[in-house]
Amino acid sequence: MEQKRFDVIVIGGGPCGYTAALYCARAALDCLVLEQLSPGGQMGTTDIIDNYPGFPQGVNGFDLAMQMQQGAERFGVATRLEAVERVELENPVKRVHTAQNAYEAGAVILAMGASPRELGLPNERSLRGKGVSYCATCDGMFYRDKTVVVVGGGDTAAADAVFLSKICKKVYLVHRRDALRASKAYLSPLQRCENVEFVWNTTVEEILAQEKVTAVAVKNVKSGTYTMIDCDGVFVAVGNVPNTKLVQGQVALNAGGYIAAGESTKTNIPGVFAAGDVREKPLRQVVTAVSDGAVAAKFAEEYLSE
Ligand SMILES: Cc1cc2nc3c(=O)[nH]c(=O)nc-3n(C[C@H](O)[C@H](O)[C@H](O)COP(=O)(O)OP(=O)(O)OC[C@H]3O[C@@H](n4cnc5c(N)ncnc54)[C@H](O)[C@@H]3O)c2cc1C
Repeated sequence: MEQKRFDVIVIGGGPCGYTAALYCARAALDCLVLEQLSPGGQMGTTDIIDNYPGFPQGVNGFDLAMQMQQGAERFGVATRLEAVERVELENPVKRVHTAQNAYEAGAVILAMGASPRELGLPNERSLRGKGVSYCATCDGMFYRDKTVVVVGGGDTAAADAVFLSKICKKVYLVHRRDALRASKAYLSPLQRCENVEFVWNTTVEEILAQEKVTAVAVKNVKSGTYTMIDCDGVFVAVGNVPNTKLVQGQVALNAGGYIAAGESTKTNIPGVFAAGDVREKPLRQVVTAVSDGAVAAKFAEEYLSE
């Protein structure tokens, strides 16, 4: 019979989740990782990670994800590819429900990360996979020699534009302000891309499509004028939203919807820890996610031995 009771259940198999699991397993705790898609989380969708220490040539996000999973499983961590649909966290025995199973654990580490924020346009969801994308490194190859629009002004938008400029004929970078928020490390390569055109002070108002995306209608926020940009794809890079719906009403969240937990990763519920991008914190990166995972495991171990 499949094991249903664990010392620790980690919800989310991103870099944070697998680091938490690795540290739990090395502390002789019986640990299960529940992942709804595939291990790696956001990191797994990243082409090259250049700022994770120990990789002088950078590392592919998917490869690193596989290595993190294998590293944890070497010490006995179990992975099940099941989406967690409901949790009961208040009591000492925590219950975690997926469509397939009901699990129990003494402690739960919440590592559900974050998902890309949508533009909120009416046909945006129905056009996912038909020209609307939230991941340039995943979908960029479908737009070889085509024209695409990247929407956003931060690091991800800048990195996406650089990445796509190497594949696509033309990249429009549409931003609602007159300058990007992206850091220097992302701006310098962007400024060298000859096929990237900046469209400042502009918002995307409508996505036009005939089965697939054909154009976007954009509005200049200063003049109020509308224009059309013909394109084959729209890459949305306007930030993230935390995956905290699952714990809403049980675990305390901050105004932005992130889990209110300090550096100890302890939430308002004893035995429940929040780590990685799902937690309120100043910097959301792989290196801070893995750090959080290790800390959460330490406090989970401490809690279970009390
Ligand atoms: C395009 C892109 C490029 C990036 N580039 C870099 C970079 O170069 N360097 C860097 O340091 N960082 C980068 N980041 C950020 C980095 O990937 C994240 O900070 C990091 O992945 C956060 O790890 P995490 O484990 O906390 O969350 P995530 O990576 O978001 O993983 C969370 C996991 O939880 C799963 N999950 C969510 N809800 C449930 C549920 N109900 N049941 C089961 N599973 C669930 C998700 O499927 C996901 O696999 C990038 C992010 C993106 C999107």
